[in-house]
Amino acid sequence: MTRSVLVLNSGSSSVKYAVVEPDSGGLVADGIVERIGDTGDDGQGVADHAAAMQVVFESLASDGHRLEDLGLVAVGHRVVHGGPDLYQPTVVDNAVIKRLEELSPLAPLHNPPAIKGIEVARKALPDLPHVAVFDTAFFHDLPPAAATYAIDADVADEWRIRRYGFHGTSHQYVSEQAAVFLGAPLESLRQIVLHLGNGASASAIVGGRPVETSMGLTPMEGLVMGTRSGDVDPGLIFYLWREAGLSVEDIESMLNRRSGVRGLGGEIDFRELHRRIESGDDAARLAYDVYIHRLRKYIGAYLAVLGTTDVITFTAGVGENDAAVRRDALSGLAALGIELDEHLNESPDRNARRISPDGAATTVLVVPTDEELAIARACTRVLG
Ligand code: ADP
Repeated sequence: MTRSVLVLNSGSSSVKYAVVEPDSGGLVADGIVERIGDTGDDGQGVADHAAAMQVVFESLASDGHRLEDLGLVAVGHRVVHGGPDLYQPTVVDNAVIKRLEELSPLAPLHNPPAIKGIEVARKALPDLPHVAVFDTAFFHDLPPAAATYAIDADVADEWRIRRYGFHGTSHQYVSEQAAVFLGAPLESLRQIVLHLGNGASASAIVGGRPVETSMGLTPMEGLVMGTRSGDVDPGLIFYLWREAGLSVEDIESMLNRRSGVRGLGGEIDFRELHRRIESGDDAARLAYDVYIHRLRKYIGAYLAVLGTTDVITFTAGVGENDAAVRRDALSGLAALGIELDEHLNESPDRNARRISPDGAATTVLVVPTDEELAIARACTRVLG
């Protein structure tokens, strides 16, 4: 029987699942259970993560997948924050759960639902190994100059404050795929990866190792995102707390859920954002302009960090699909060897592809990310 891995990404209100064959890369089934904790009048929501897990099994069954016939060898869990110590893919036992619970204050929005997801899945599938794969893992060895905030060193030490970086599974996978696409050894490449989904982050990678990334202690730093602000002056937090009387929770919620492209333009989906811009919506225009401006600042910074770059790769929902974002992010950089071929950039092809002209000094790629496959492969690696 072909072996497969059940990959779970448990958030506070949804569980994404996928059954993946790590050896072939084949996707057997996938889906999402939404509205956890929101059992409204329409009877569509599910009560909690345990109920969501049952819905996952029911969905698999109704698609004709009997659990015992799937050849499952592991359950892989995406965990956002591994803190300073957890970065290798880790087989979960009670001690690991305890360690994850201790880390929850570092990622209060992300880690608690992931722990719930792991706990219900361990109960439902007790005979399989459950492996936690951390979004922070790839960036564990970020050089100290990039990982360190210039704050009181004793405070940072006591509170484990550093730049951890997130979306690591995607940045690693996509940078490896870029090397495969180019037929070049990973070790020989200087890369910039732009992961532009609802969450968004950039990384600079030398020889397969990250040297800089845009997210920090939490997944709030860096680029403008769907609902997150990215970089702000920390002074605005104190100002809102002191003068506007907002609580820490209010400010955190505002910066996480009501900021970014939605906060400025009232819309999270870039397809709709473009429609609004077309119809003359100034707020949508400003949201887009702020998004692009921040992205270009990071690209410029990473070009300086790297000196030269062989490849720039766009990935995730916006990066893979939005030709206008790619064009506007890189326009006017021909003097730096960075150009797009307009025709290739507009191509509807969904596979990994080059969008820079033949012979350009920097190759620009679009590479679909596949975090589920990367997590499945991490599971089989750790299980031998
Ligand atoms: P997540 O961070 O939730 O995994 P994704 O990587 O799936 O996000 O990206 C989702 C976002 O991708 C959507 O909110 C939307 O803005 C954008 N997107 C998806 N398809 C398209 C498209 N065809 N054109 C432009 N943007 C798109």
